[in-house]
Parts: sequence; C-alpha cells; structure tokens
Amino acid sequence: MNILFKDNLFNIDDIDIKENEPMKDHTTFRIGGPARYFVTVYNTGSLLKVLKTCIEHGVKYMVVGNGSNLLVSCRGYDGVVIKPEGEFQNISVDGDRLTAGSGVLLPRLAKTALEYSLKGLEFASGIPGSVGGGILMNAGAYDGEIRCVCAKSRYVDVNRLASMDYDRINEAVCERENKDLMFDYRMSIFQKTGDIILDGTFHLEKVEDKSIIEEKMKDLNERRRLKQPLEYPSAGSTFKRPRGHYAAKLIEECGLKGYSCGDAQVSEKHSGFVINRGNASFDDVVKVIEHVKDVVYNMTGVILEPEVKIIW
Ligand SMILES: Cc1cc2nc3c(=O)[nH]c(=O)nc-3n(C[C@H](O)[C@H](O)[C@H](O)COP(=O)(O)OP(=O)(O)OC[C@H]3O[C@@H](n4cnc5c(N)ncnc54)[C@H](O)[C@@H]3O)c2cc1C
Repeated sequence: MNILFKDNLFNIDDIDIKENEPMKDHTTFRIGGPARYFVTVYNTGSLLKVLKTCIEHGVKYMVVGNGSNLLVSCRGYDGVVIKPEGEFQNISVDGDRLTAGSGVLLPRLAKTALEYSLKGLEFASGIPGSVGGGILMNAGAYDGEIRCVCAKSRYVDVNRLASMDYDRINEAVCERENKDLMFDYRMSIFQKTGDIILDGTFHLEKVEDKSIIEEKMKDLNERRRLKQPLEYPSAGSTFKRPRGHYAAKLIEECGLKGYSCGDAQVSEKHSGFVINRGNASFDDVVKVIEHVKDVVYNMTGVILEPEVKIIW
C-alpha cells in the first residue's frame, strides 16, 4: 500500500479510519488480528469512493457486517475492512415491505417487523448477523430463510465501478430482484460476484394479531438458547449441512463432541459449533476444523464444508 493510497483514503469525507484495528473486536468468535485500515462508512457516496480508491490502487478490501460468520487470521488483514453504518442502519416501512440498510442487525429488523404486525422474519430474530451478511449468506433457521422474504436488494456492482470514471461512480449502484439473486442453501449471487450489498427490501405478510409473531419468536429463541452454546464466542454452525445429513449428528457419531485444540473446542452442547473457550487462536480453530473434516470423511465418506468464512 503506497502513500498515495493512504492520502486518497484519508481525503474521503464521511468516513472514520482506524489503523491496525484488531478484528477480534469485530467478530463474534473474538478472534482476529489487525486490519491495516478499518473504515466505517456512513453513506453510499463515501462507500463508493472507498471502494473505487481500493480498486484503483489494487488494495484488497472486504465488508464486515456483524462478524458473526467470520474467522479472521491472527495475522490480520492487510487491506481495508469496510463497516457500513449511518444510513446503512436505516429501516423504512411501506405497507407490507421493509427496506433495511446492510448494517441493520437481523434481530432489530425482525423486531421492527413485529412492531408493524408483519409476519415472515421470525426465523431471523435470533440470527446475530446483519442484513448484508444475511443476504450474502441466505441466512436461515428453522422454517425460514432470507430467500423466502427478500424481494430485492440494491448493491454496488464492483466491476462497473472499476471501469467507471470517478465522476460517474454513482452509476455503479444496481438492483436485483429475488429471482436474480440466485439464492440457494447458504448461498447468493453476491458470493460469486463479490458485489457489495447496500440494502434489502423484505416482502412480509400483514397480520391482524401480532401476538402470533411474538410467540413464534419467543419459541424459536428459547429453542436456540437451549440447544446452542450462546454463552461462548463462536461463529454459529461451523459447517454447512451436507446433503442428506446433519453436520452436528455426524460429528457426534464420529466421537468428536468436546474435541479441542487449545481453547477451540467442538461444543459439548451442540457439536455443529466450534466455540472459543477463552483464548483460542485462529490456528487452534483451523486445526479443530481440519481434524473434524478428516475424521468425518474417513469414518463416513461425507465431506464437510465450512459455512464460516475464513479470512487467511
Ligand atoms: C450464535 C450464532 C448463531 C447463528 N445462527 C445462525 C442461524 O441460525 N442461521 C444462519 O444462517 N446463520 C447463523 N449464524 C451465522 C451468521 O449469523 C450468519 O451467517 C449471518 O448472516 C452473518 O451476517 P454478518 O453480518 O455477521 O456477516 P459477517 O460475518 O460480517 O460477514 C459474512 C460474509 O458476508 C460478507 N458481507 C457482510 N456484509 C456485506 C455486505 N454489505 N455486502 C457484501 N458482503 C457482505 C462478508 O464480507 C463475509 O464474507 C449464527 C452465528 C452465531 C455466532
């Protein structure tokens, strides 16, 4: 990263920049070394400028939502980590539709839906991610998934942005409807394109009696509290559900419940979670993940694929 890049970055309005910011403070795993630049952006204009500056100088970047599906290396991230706040925290309501900025946390979005008697987001009320991370991952739980409710999403097309002159960068903002978001199990088109999500519009169902929504949220969150090791830092389910199996069941059947390396452990409460019992390092977690994958493959022939995004 050259000095010109730094000058250009520090000249952008409406952003906050921290240098060498520990990523462990921005991930629910509480693991991760320093981000060279941690940039909080407050509006679309400043986000576009930060992205364009990174692209022009060949500096790598990533967007972080609530860091609840991230495992970041202890060596850190030698690039720009972008955190959307400000206008990205806005929620607006229009009849049976909610539009929320990418930085809005899913539990807050679900609570707003409840306030307006809008049904459909109950499943999301206990998922500790943001709208951006939720759309990217097609987050889901119990009987719901983002793809069932997300009508459309606005995003920055990073390829268009790269090819555009600086004074036309606003034209890199695009929109995709549900059918074009290529949602699949823990998958959306954004994982393939690398585009940056600005917001999502959620089409819900207006109901007369909102207590139905409230009861369902309470029930799902109680089930979550009973089954998941929420008392420890983690990134939720470590592995995707392999076709025809449940990761947690396979891991348990292979005798790996409680398997640990340093402070990283396959949770005793829910074998699908690797938890940080205190001071787990990135390497500890990776070793647990690799060991679990190897043993499960050798004993059952099933390949486990991490759901957690690993930033090396
Ligand atoms: C206790 C616990 C329980 C969980 N339960 C569930 C569950 O029931 N169901 C489920 O699906 N998941 C669950 N998760 C995982 C996690 O909450 C989801 O994957 C969530 O969608 C991640 O959102 P995030 O904002 O934290 O994303 P992050 O972890 O910050 O980022 C994840 C990925 O999204 C990208 N990203 C984030 N924002 C944007 C954006 N605006 N534009 C483009 N890319 C972006 C990041 O670059 C990264 O690649 C759980 C996690 C924990 C810790």
